Amino acid sequence: MTLAIILSAIAMTVIVGVRYLLVSGAFAWITTRKHPGLYLGLDPQVRREIIWSLASAALYGIPAGVVAWGWQHRGWTEVYADVHAYPLWYLPVSVFAYLLLHDAWFYWTHRWMHRPAPFKLAHALHHASRPPTAWAAMAFHPIEALSGAIVIPLLVFFVPIHIYGLGVVLTIMTVMGVTNHMGWEIFPRFMWSGPLGGWLITASHHQRHHELYGCNYGLYFRHWDRLCHTDRGVGDFTREHARAARRADAA
Ligand SMILES: [Zn+2]
Ligand SMILES: [Zn+2]
Repeated sequence: MTLAIILSAIAMTVIVGVRYLLVSGAFAWITTRKHPGLYLGLDPQVRREIIWSLASAALYGIPAGVVAWGWQHRGWTEVYADVHAYPLWYLPVSVFAYLLLHDAWFYWTHRWMHRPAPFKLAHALHHASRPPTAWAAMAFHPIEALSGAIVIPLLVFFVPIHIYGLGVVLTIMTVMGVTNHMGWEIFPRFMWSGPLGGWLITASHHQRHHELYGCNYGLYFRHWDRLCHTDRGVGDFTREHARAARRADAA
């Protein structure tokens, strides 16, 4: 049994690590096409981002692997496989609920990590990427990684979700983690400005967090930032992109 749990934790670590390499790698490659020069000269930083991200993969993989084992063999968690176990309308509602709960947890722990002592200890590492790249998606200090890694493995014990719904949540989590850090906006304008954009977080919003620090703490949604007056609007990438173009020309 212990061996099975350990194997499950290792398997999940490998899955999280490979998923990171594939998704970050794909978006980093698209970045070199769209904005040549954007990551030029950042090799030492990218190497650091990859090492810390792979270390985080283990911290994400272990709790997820243990819970996945318990789900399969002990009937742990509220994750269901029969799509009719709950009404169909519950499917999107559960996905939305996971995103909202994760976002709330992230906002408050992230804000706490911007207090001087926790910042130095646990969060300065993430902000050492200046500017972050697509590889920074999971570049966290172990304390920060752990605070993020426990959210979904805990939620599955309390909030029922279909296994595919969980897949959607994890996909959104992965894609937003990468695209929010890659240094340009991939999403259409309505998602980061205007009535809907005022509530959603994409790269334009998170860019400003990395630029100004004490604002824009949210993960997926802007309501906590807006409610707590920590929203400083969306940033823009013009200066960075002009610099990248000059670097690409010079290279
Ligand atoms: Zn931060
Ligand atoms: Zn960030």
